[in-house]
Amino acid sequence: MDLLSNKLSCPSCGGSRLVAGTAWENEFRNFAPKGKMMLFGYSPISFVCRDCGYLGRCLSEKDRAELDAKVSEPKQAA
Ligand SMILES: [Zn+2]
Repeated sequence: MDLLSNKLSCPSCGGSRLVAGTAWENEFRNFAPKGKMMLFGYSPISFVCRDCGYLGRCLSEKDRAELDAKVSEPKQAA
């Protein structure tokens, strides 16, 4: 399973040799799209660049796809 989108590249050096991981603070920093009813947001994952060491954060590819589907719904049902 791909944790990281294959479109994701290092913001610092542009490299694509990224390693996904978690940082302990992540569980307190969930992301929820505005205007969408969600009990829980998305928990970001961290990644580190193997080329330059840049440490960043993003949504997993699974969450990204789910979010994409959610925000592109034409109208909210409720
Ligand atoms: Zn890099």
